[in-house]
Amino acid sequence: MAVYLCHEQPDLHEHGAVVVDAAPGRVALDRSAFHPGGGGQVCDAGTLEHAGGTATVTAIEVVDDVAWHVLDDPALLLAGDVVVRIDAEHRSRVAQLHTDSHVLNAIVYERWPGTLVTGAQINADGTGRMDFDLSAVDNDALRALAADVNAIIRQGADVRAVYVDADDGATVAGLVRSLSVAPPPTPDGRLRIIEIDGVDRQACGGTHLSNMAQSAPFAITKVESKGARNRRVRFRLDG
Ligand SMILES: [Zn+2]
Repeated sequence: MAVYLCHEQPDLHEHGAVVVDAAPGRVALDRSAFHPGGGGQVCDAGTLEHAGGTATVTAIEVVDDVAWHVLDDPALLLAGDVVVRIDAEHRSRVAQLHTDSHVLNAIVYERWPGTLVTGAQINADGTGRMDFDLSAVDNDALRALAADVNAIIRQGADVRAVYVDADDGATVAGLVRSLSVAPPPTPDGRLRIIEIDGVDRQACGGTHLSNMAQSAPFAITKVESKGARNRRVRFRLDG
């Protein structure tokens, strides 16, 4: 997991940058606040203002640690200076869903100890899902967890990112719960941990809120059984 500019400056939504590499319809920058997505989280949305106008970034493709910003005009070849603008509303919606998903995960983990997440997805349209490895649990019991998530949203716990040494097994135990979406350490061997005060500590490279009260109410729309052990919980922001 690289350390992203959006990790270091989560409120940076507009900044200058220089094109360091380009091909028709795609560009690499010397710095970019775009979150590239990953671990089931959709990438940031936004634009690049350039000498000839404004291009919309439709995707981020990371190749050999280079974040290629894919542009809406497949023929556009950029050079020189650009202004990066992040869609703050999209960022916020994804951060709300993503941070809420940590709370859901923490509640499931506490109620059914040791439960692993087998998949997670946070979409651009304000919906998401988490898959849990849970066999003998009634789907209604999972549906009822929305009220517990909303109670924690109302309590307004602080959320912060800290880094721990990835080699320190005693520190890291229990922090990496996902079977399939666990983030790798940074190049210098640190794990990024998201702490929700009194609720959860978990390794993650995504974008999050700084306080739970920033989240809209959380709704569980559907619980499905996917195979003998897997439960899929679908959710969205309720307002
Ligand atoms: Zn996260």
